[in-house]
Amino acid sequence: MNNLQKLSDKELYTICKKWGATVLEARRKFGGLLPEVQRRELASRTKGGSWLKKRGFTCMYEFAARLAGMSQPQVDEVIRQDKRFEDKPMLRAALVNGEVSVNKLARVVSIATVENQREILEKVKALSKVALDIFVKDYKRENEKTDGLEETKNRQISLYGRNENADIGLTEAIVKTGPEQGGQTQPKKLPVNLDEDIAKELLEMQAKNIDVNGLLREFLRESKVKLEREKSEIAERQIQKRDGRAIIGFPAKRYVPMEVRKIVREEFGDKCAMPGCAKSAENLHHEKGFAKEQCHDPRYLKPMCKGHHELVHARKFTHADEPVHADELAHADELVHADELVHADELAHAG
Ligand SMILES: [Zn+2]
Ligand SMILES: [Zn+2]
Repeated sequence: MNNLQKLSDKELYTICKKWGATVLEARRKFGGLLPEVQRRELASRTKGGSWLKKRGFTCMYEFAARLAGMSQPQVDEVIRQDKRFEDKPMLRAALVNGEVSVNKLARVVSIATVENQREILEKVKALSKVALDIFVKDYKRENEKTDGLEETKNRQISLYGRNENADIGLTEAIVKTGPEQGGQTQPKKLPVNLDEDIAKELLEMQAKNIDVNGLLREFLRESKVKLEREKSEIAERQIQKRDGRAIIGFPAKRYVPMEVRKIVREEFGDKCAMPGCAKSAENLHHEKGFAKEQCHDPRYLKPMCKGHHELVHARKFTHADEPVHADELAHADELVHADELVHADELAHAG
């Protein structure tokens, strides 16, 4: 048996991660040197020589492949991104020093400016690629709003969820526009997925001049009231459970109880709860922090996609004015990836 065979699974994995990170860091640093190598190569060529040939390489690609195992697309990407960040010295420096990967920088290029580069760099360093993509999307949306542009995205209304089996296709619902359109009632068509029997019933009622919109509005209001009531009842039960456990000195369980998951799903469906995000929910986020509250109170639970979940935890890190719970801080990584996480399929079963 050699030394490696004596390692536990955990130790083996730890060593793999350590050297893997070292390799990635070294490659980032090497990549950061390439724009300067290219600059010297071009300069030497204008004088009839070649910086690379003098050192035994035919071109940049061979140079990068032989010295650092970098592929052609990786080389191209570094050179390309270096050019794009020419006017943003902080971000460019981070690229050249190998502080951040070119893949991550490429994700923020569309929102990076001279003014916000410090903030952007912080994000690039702190967030994973998935969370970074979401951050960029949210950032663009926020800026659209502050530019005074109204949200005129084609919002879809889908009553009763997506019932693929019984779906009869798109039912056109006539929606009247309000006084903001100059008081005119212009019929606007929005696609709503309705089951055939429901669509028929509504159409029949409409033909009899029954106030279908009033009825539906009332129904929606009542549903919300009912949901809120159920939520408070469940919350009460969860708080009682928590207090009961505390008395006998039992730690709270990470597992989110079925009735809690069910009510959260009733409220949010299977999508991320962050405004404007259409991604599937993969994690259940405890707004008050599970470590602190020791409770699965549905009033403070939000289903989130992986990226947004990471993002809200990262915000707790960087914003000193927000309450930060020491225990949650220490395990933010684990929280996102392990125990707090509820898989989408579990969420689905909950419904
Ligand atoms: Zn969370
Ligand atoms: Zn999301």
